[in-house]
Amino acid sequence: MRLGAAIIGSILLGLILLCCGGCSTGSAAASAAPPEWVHHHGGILQGAELHRAEQAANRFVGVINNPVRVQVLASDQPAAWSWPDGQIFLTAGLIRALDDDQIVAVIGHELGHLLRSGQASTTEALLGIKPDSDAESSADETCLRLLDRTATPRSSLRTALCNVLIRNDLSESLRAQLLMRINQLPSR
Ligand SMILES: [Zn+2]
Repeated sequence: MRLGAAIIGSILLGLILLCCGGCSTGSAAASAAPPEWVHHHGGILQGAELHRAEQAANRFVGVINNPVRVQVLASDQPAAWSWPDGQIFLTAGLIRALDDDQIVAVIGHELGHLLRSGQASTTEALLGIKPDSDAESSADETCLRLLDRTATPRSSLRTALCNVLIRNDLSESLRAQLLMRINQLPSR
């Protein structure tokens, strides 16, 4: 699937899992989300959800070297993606399900993917704790370190995932994947 190959980090929750586990490394350098992909996920949404996403992204000023760019997709399905050009997409359904700290955690997870693939950089080294871990666990681990630097509680990532887990429209495989990640994360 062409779109799937271009995505470097689908996925906090990936109801639309494009590759096994939701994340893959794209070969197309700095490719942006194609308009048809954006359209497929409901198109770009302005307004209150975008404002909350931008406020959350602002917490990474001084931590991430380049500005963190976020967009909101007008979809009720909770999901997040990062693209090789550094753009992060969150769905409106995800934002509505989370508090402000949890939105920061979701962005931090996506930044974990972008940092791992070299599409973003930090003011100090954050990677390399568990070089053998899978993409999702690695992004979560990096996210926790980013949360420390943005004065956001580490528990925000765990509670964000829990808020998605309680939805009744998740597949069994996604539910299992979320549970595994939740069990690896600190509750405080
Ligand atoms: Zn991910």
